Order: sequence, then C-alpha cells, then structure tokens
Amino acid sequence: MSIRFTAETINRLREASSIVVLTGAGISAESGVPTFRDKGGHWAKHKPEDLASEAGFRRDPVLVQSWYRERTRKLESIQPNPGHLAIAELENRFNSFLLVTQNVDNLHHRAGSTKIIEVHGNLSDQFCIECGLKTTQTLADADELPMTCSACRGLIRPGVVWFGEMLPTGAFEHAVSAARECDVLLSIGTSGVVYPVAMLPEFARQNGAYTIEVNIERSAISHVMNDTLIGPSGMILPQLLDATFAESPTAAPPTSTMPLVPLVPKVLPSSDMRAAELNGANRDTTDGNTAAANTTGPSEQAPDTLTTQTSIPQ
Ligand SMILES: [Zn+2]
Repeated sequence: MSIRFTAETINRLREASSIVVLTGAGISAESGVPTFRDKGGHWAKHKPEDLASEAGFRRDPVLVQSWYRERTRKLESIQPNPGHLAIAELENRFNSFLLVTQNVDNLHHRAGSTKIIEVHGNLSDQFCIECGLKTTQTLADADELPMTCSACRGLIRPGVVWFGEMLPTGAFEHAVSAARECDVLLSIGTSGVVYPVAMLPEFARQNGAYTIEVNIERSAISHVMNDTLIGPSGMILPQLLDATFAESPTAAPPTSTMPLVPLVPKVLPSSDMRAAELNGANRDTTDGNTAAANTTGPSEQAPDTLTTQTSIPQ
C-alpha cells in the first residue's frame, strides 16, 4: 500500500544534515519480540521488581537468570524487520546520525546499525555483579544455573538497566546533546511514557528540529510532533526512504493511485490494522518497558525531572 507523505516531511528529511532516531518497544513488537504481558511465563507469577532489580536478583538469582535465559533464547529465532533495516539505511544517508533506542533486544545491531545509544542496555551483554567482569558466555547457553563468574564465582547478571538503576554513564547526556542539535528527529514505536527518553523530541523541537512520529497509534508525545504517521514502521519507513531519496529533485509525492488523504492517514488496510491493534495491545510492554511497571515500580519518578535514572525495569 502506497503512503502519501507531506511535502514538508520529505523536504525536511532531504535537507537535513543531522538526524536522530528514537526507537521503542513498538518496532520490536513488529518482529514478534515477546512482551511482558504475554500469558504464562514468569510474568504471570512474579512482580516486575522481583525479576528486574538487583535486590530481586540477589534474593533469587536462579529465578532471574532463568527468566533472562528464556528471553535471550527466544530472541535467537527473531529477526529484524524492514523498519530496523530502514533505520540502518538511514544511518548511511546522513553524516550526522544517532540512533537512541530503549530496546535491549540487539535487533538494531543485527540490522546493521552502528551509531547506537542503548539507553537501557543490551540483553546480549552480561557481567559479574561482584567484580564487574564482562563475560562472553551468554545466559542463553547456560545449562546450569546460577551462572557464576569464572574469576570470582560472583553471580552473572544481564547488562540491562533495572529498577532503581542509572542509565549507562553519559548515554542520556549524549542523546540530549544530539537531539538539541539535530535537524530532524524521528520517533519510532515509542509510547512516549518512558522518561527521561520521552523528553528528547521536545528538546529537538525546542531547537527548531522537525519531528516525525511513526507509530501504530497516537502516543503521549504526538503533540510535540510535526508529523505523525500511523502504521507499522516496517511498512512506513521503507516508503519514507524511497520517497525521500528518490531521484526526483522535487518533493513531489510518490507515484500513487491513492486519493488524497488527510495529513495523518490511517495507512493500514483493515486486516493489517487488526493485526497491528493486536500487537498494539502489548506494544508498550515489550521488553519490560511497561507503562504499568513505570507507574508501580520502585523507581517511579516525576516525568519532568531531567535525570539519568531510568524509570523502567528491564
Ligand atoms: Zn567476578
């Protein structure tokens, strides 16, 4: 299905020399990354803070390691989708590019992106909680739990941000700086409820950047967007790239037999929309970035605080 983009969106992208892309759970949900609300599994039986906090980990390391082992193993059969690939392609199109992701599933790396800030860490990383040693042995490969450090026998934990923990040193500051300096910010599959990352579009907008949202529904940050494109990123982003970088020297809309549609088009055919809605029911909860956890977790904080402490668990 062809999408008709506004001339301003195409022109601003064409003229941009620096771009920031912000991604959240929605883009991973399109690849089928399981969500926290999936029935069964540990989430049905345990509180988020028991599975995603250092205190919970120390209380029951086997429980927590087994949960991360299960998630990591599931990821091995999941592939990046056309949305991830389009973002990797965007990186090649701009000299100044930064991808800021809240996702921990490594799918952006696997799609070919390299200029990434993973503000909540990466499930592929793990380290010893006692001596800090990073290990290349993954939880996915662990037959016996608890998995311990080869140097000191301390417990091995995933390299993701848990309740009450700080974002990786400098990560958020770098993201803020890039957002303040970019010409265009794209927000993709983000609910806009996870702070402090949700503040980045506003920072960009305040400094004159053009802001574009791609999401399956309007979000908590739609009001700071110049353009909101409703639909899955795997469908919208490849077409947005085609329309932007087509040979045509003007910002003419892409060839299409589509009639003129509103500026915020519902681009999905009805069957796809139903599927998207089904995904959307869990979209905000992929990889534990749950709005529910955000409001009930131990690290809840006011949304207007400029802090590097995460408000979500992993
Ligand atoms: Zn150790």
